[in-house]
Amino acid sequence: MESPKDSGTPQLTRREAMGRVALTGLGVASALSAAGELARLAAQGPAVVNPIPPPATDSKFPMPPAWNKELKQVAPNVYAYMQGGGPGLSAAGVSNALMVSGKDSLLAVDATQGPIPARAFIAAAKQATGGKEFTRLVNTHHHGDHVSGNQFFNHAEIMSHPYCRDECIKAAPTTPKTWTVTPGVADKEEPRVLVPPSVTFKDDLTYFIDGTEMQFRFAGPAHTWGDMMAYFPKYKILFAGDVGFFWVAPYANNSYITKWIEVCDKIQGWDVDMIIPGHGPIGGKKELAEMANYFRVLGVETRKRYDAKMSAGAAAAEIRLGRFDNWIGPERLIMDVVRWYEEWDSTLTPDYNAMAVREATIEYNEVKKKSGAMGEMIPLSRMVAVAEAC
Ligand SMILES: [Zn+2]
Repeated sequence: MESPKDSGTPQLTRREAMGRVALTGLGVASALSAAGELARLAAQGPAVVNPIPPPATDSKFPMPPAWNKELKQVAPNVYAYMQGGGPGLSAAGVSNALMVSGKDSLLAVDATQGPIPARAFIAAAKQATGGKEFTRLVNTHHHGDHVSGNQFFNHAEIMSHPYCRDECIKAAPTTPKTWTVTPGVADKEEPRVLVPPSVTFKDDLTYFIDGTEMQFRFAGPAHTWGDMMAYFPKYKILFAGDVGFFWVAPYANNSYITKWIEVCDKIQGWDVDMIIPGHGPIGGKKELAEMANYFRVLGVETRKRYDAKMSAGAAAAEIRLGRFDNWIGPERLIMDVVRWYEEWDSTLTPDYNAMAVREATIEYNEVKKKSGAMGEMIPLSRMVAVAEAC
């Protein structure tokens, strides 16, 4: 695995490193375990009464499209499992997956976030292929909405980048033992277990599945330190996992944003016509470039305030992103600003800094309250929901 040092992550001073140890010592090892930590922290914070999701949209620009939940055939034997979405719907946890059909069996890329979507994906795949079973599953990365459904792929060998496996193993002990009834995720209480991948690969890996060439490509760090993408050269299709967020604000809690932008630029040079993102509707290079532009615009706005020595939360409260303000999940702007600050402070690690995001959210809300923009406040509980998946 490429270590943060190898990949160019700024090194910490001793004092910063000690501070970071204190944070990671709280169990903030990944977005999975961090969600529980943030929930605990949120419970301690001041109650925010207004539940309206902020910030305001910008009427000068178009709203995101709505897209359907469907198993969509994108090439012979290649299907995208789209969970559907659109304006006004939650962005958290609704990830896309992929299925490749071989002569006798199926390969999945990503397992969705729980029993309802995983079983729906498996049932749709069986129906489309005359009852074939999944025998292989590749996780693009360790976030809950991509690995929590692993337990439902009973007969599949599970593979990932080593970083993804390591994060799953770290998160497994604190994963609840039972599924809680949650709309769209679980409809009954039943045993829950986070099944980690049992096979790892660090670099590119090619499958030839009964005539379908499928290349797994590692180009990270980007969204996390272990992102795998699936590329079909014959069909010029890329399943980008969470390297791609289309019309949905990108989630950067475990990200190296500068490198993520570089990966997006690199993909522009690949022979690709269609990109299936981890979140949002199917698009192409144009949509991926737009996501990189989200980070560029945010980076310019954030840097001005960083240089003016504003706190991350106060900076996030001031920033408007024009066309990107309409994207689904706008509250992620706060974590993305925090992540930019960490890069420039040389305190960035692969881990999710739940404490910093909490502090920034509280400060963001204070600024909004003072300016009378009560409708733009973000309940801490909403940040918990965001942290649980993506
Ligand atoms: Zn993710």
